[in-house]
Amino acid sequence: MDIVAPFQEGIEAIKESGGQAFKLCYQCGLCDTVCPWNRVGTFSMRRLVRQASYGVPEIEGQDIWRCTTCGMCTQKCPRGVETIDVSVSLRRIAAGAGFSPASVHVVAASLAAEGNPVGEPRAKRADWAEGLGVKEFTEGTEVLYFPCCYSSYEPRLKRIASTTAKILSLAGVDFGILGSKENCCGESIRRAGHEKLFTSLARENIKTFVANGVKKIVVSSPHCYHTMINEYSEFKVNFDVVHITQYLSELIEKGRLPVNKRPMRRVAYHDPCYLGRHNGVFEEPRRVLKDALGLEIVDMADSRESSLCCGGGGGGMWMDVTRGERLSDLRVKQAIDAGAELLITACPYCIMNLDYSSSTTFNGAIEIKDITEIVQEALQATVNAEQVQTSVKEKLVGSSRP
Ligand code: SF4
Ligand code: SF4
Repeated sequence: MDIVAPFQEGIEAIKESGGQAFKLCYQCGLCDTVCPWNRVGTFSMRRLVRQASYGVPEIEGQDIWRCTTCGMCTQKCPRGVETIDVSVSLRRIAAGAGFSPASVHVVAASLAAEGNPVGEPRAKRADWAEGLGVKEFTEGTEVLYFPCCYSSYEPRLKRIASTTAKILSLAGVDFGILGSKENCCGESIRRAGHEKLFTSLARENIKTFVANGVKKIVVSSPHCYHTMINEYSEFKVNFDVVHITQYLSELIEKGRLPVNKRPMRRVAYHDPCYLGRHNGVFEEPRRVLKDALGLEIVDMADSRESSLCCGGGGGGMWMDVTRGERLSDLRVKQAIDAGAELLITACPYCIMNLDYSSSTTFNGAIEIKDITEIVQEALQATVNAEQVQTSVKEKLVGSSRP
């Protein structure tokens, strides 16, 4: 695209939408080198930033919807350009002009009407908890468990919510859920440029939390975690928000979860972008898997700070991606190549994408599990072993009686 002179009106519009970060860019192109999309196709964040600096973004095209906001280029940029802010600002302008992809329109309508992106009725939000004896959160309950929309509704992901509830119960945590009273946290629709919708979802949640006396929130999704610890503070509130990996690590350390070491298995751990790179939670999941459960964590290519995005962030869950361009395919292959028997992670989006890749592209060659599922297995094995030991002891004691 030839640019003769900067278009001031466009520059101002981008700045007003939060994209003023383009000013520092000197067009070195490192962002394109590290961006995972360039392993499966072509995409240029550098070009988007350049367009922004001239005030002439191509808001009608597909490119501005590509970025999954994984944070890799932001982390590596030598000039500290907040690339995600630039890309989200362009999406805000596009969404305001009615150029969101059709799938994002559908999601936005569902969020506005039912408080979730999956088109399910609000009234069914707590159905995952049926039969588990989970109580409704009321004033004075210690912990609110906030499972994420996908863990509340999607059949595979509901297992994350139910497993978490069972673990919390076993550890004796005084917790409850808000069910149909809660909304989507709003993180992903914000990254997709729908700022007003984010504000309304966040406000509604905050109002509900305050009205019910919520102080501590345990979340399953790194996306809920990110927005609640970094962005809900924009509304002048401050909740004690803990990701489940952190909470599991704490419960185990305090002796509230009776896990014993598991038989040695080689596993890979995938750091979700919004847990690891964006928020620095790398050690707690490893403490649970390695130190508490005794699993061997094999090193995949691109791990920890350089973790490879699954493709689900930034609204990626709602975009059509053609076969051969799925980042989750690359990630599953890395786990298989590293010799892992299991690929474990801690994010509903990652589970969904990795599971899909494993079952379709790799014929189910590797099992994908949430960290709670592997902890639950260890708890069952421990409890069963203790039951066996107890019953053996009882028999021995019984047989020695006169
Ligand atoms: S890495 Fe940073 S400075 Fe280099 S082109 Fe990308 S945004 Fe600009
Ligand atoms: S945030 Fe991630 S997906 Fe987006 S441009 Fe940067 S590296 Fe690529």
